[in-house]
Amino acid sequence: MANKNLLRDIPKVDVVLAHKELSEYDSVLLTETVREILDDIRKGVLDGFLEQLPTLDEIAKKVKSKLEEKETPSLRPVFNATGIILHTNLGRACLSDKALKAVSSVACGYSTLEYDLERGRRGSRHDHVESLICKITNAEAAMVVNNNAAAVLIVLSALTKGKEVIVSRGELVEIGGSFRVPEVMEQGGAILKEVGTTNKTHLFDYKNAVNENTGAFLKVHTSNYRIFGFTESVSLDEMVKLGRELNIPVIEDLGSGFLVSPKLFGLDDEPFVIDSVRSGADIVTFSGDKLLGGPQAGIVVGKKEMVEKIKKHPLARAMRIDKLTLSALEATLRSYLSEDEALKDIPVLNMLSMTPEKLEKKAEKFKEVLAKYNVECSVVPDEGQVGGGSVPANMLPSFGVAVNTKGVSLQKLEERLRFGENPVVGHITKNNFILNVLTVRERDFDTIAKKVGETLKECM
Ligand SMILES: *Cc1c(COP(=O)(O)O)cnc(C)c1O
Repeated sequence: MANKNLLRDIPKVDVVLAHKELSEYDSVLLTETVREILDDIRKGVLDGFLEQLPTLDEIAKKVKSKLEEKETPSLRPVFNATGIILHTNLGRACLSDKALKAVSSVACGYSTLEYDLERGRRGSRHDHVESLICKITNAEAAMVVNNNAAAVLIVLSALTKGKEVIVSRGELVEIGGSFRVPEVMEQGGAILKEVGTTNKTHLFDYKNAVNENTGAFLKVHTSNYRIFGFTESVSLDEMVKLGRELNIPVIEDLGSGFLVSPKLFGLDDEPFVIDSVRSGADIVTFSGDKLLGGPQAGIVVGKKEMVEKIKKHPLARAMRIDKLTLSALEATLRSYLSEDEALKDIPVLNMLSMTPEKLEKKAEKFKEVLAKYNVECSVVPDEGQVGGGSVPANMLPSFGVAVNTKGVSLQKLEERLRFGENPVVGHITKNNFILNVLTVRERDFDTIAKKVGETLKECM
């Protein structure tokens, strides 16, 4: 049978290993990969798929490409051309250059993470950012944990365990799958006391629900949805006033929260951390990698006595942030000491400050770069989004380039751009494949354009 001859002619592992194209690779991974490729060929012959063996050169090429695939990190950079600024699946906020520099300065060596250089003894990791956060938000005290979900959990665990926490039915939020306010409360040992209705909650609803076992009023920002029409909710100011009267702490989960005025971007609907602190809430929590534009972190600000209690809770150790995050957060927060600096340094704020006129110009520039790689396209208006479960009701006016795919299907181009080196994520509208420039950096134009040019050519 021809099959048998083919099987006999499959080259030996050693023969493939000796191929000159493969000399640069580490031997363990190489041998394993050669075996896998040869096994595939053997299987192909046995199953009758292969009627002719690949040449030795072809085998070496297969080995090489499989090796490259294996050596590609799983977590790697992607070009985000979706126009969604805080794209949760693509890693939310891009860090500032200053944050990156801070991370690399502490990453490979020793640092002052928990060391007080002046006294030559143990220090606290909280100290690196607490005074900065207090300065920026005007809060009495602050601490930082792993993310905002952790912040909410530790706050409830430390302050309201076994007590009733009163929340409006309009604010029983679910954030992306596993974070649900009622469930987090349960985990925190608090007893959920829902008040009001989905669309309307009044101050008297809170007042009537108070009893001797009330632990707190909790206000949750409805980050990822809005209720319109016949609605009413209680403002933080009113809640704080009632809380003071009845001696009940007020906790607010802001979710996102700006450290510069949302008015700068016309996003008045989004909460401003400084306003919440000014209202007198006892504890306010928010995320580090949403509108703040820093690394994944959860920030707790508020009354000193309560923050101290949270710091001492056993969960604090389980939720502590590591030195890389802390250094990135400190550098990001430092930019906030001046509003101009923050707008200049922090990519998220940068993107939010782009006017449609600027974005149109940016798209024109991108179009020119794409032309260098024989990609024809037209500049088109395209909506952007804040994303990350923030500002659901606002689309951001933006621009993009619609690629002339010359007969290649939009789905095929969209898919192929995600494959291989320098993956690019764009999006398909009704009749176009669009790369939105809101979330693309100009310094990446060339790399992306090259990828689009090569991909289009491959698809034809
Ligand atoms: C996003 C969000 C959270 C969770 O924050 P993470 O930093 O993603 O853990 C919690 N509550 C609200 C209201 C949010 O919007």
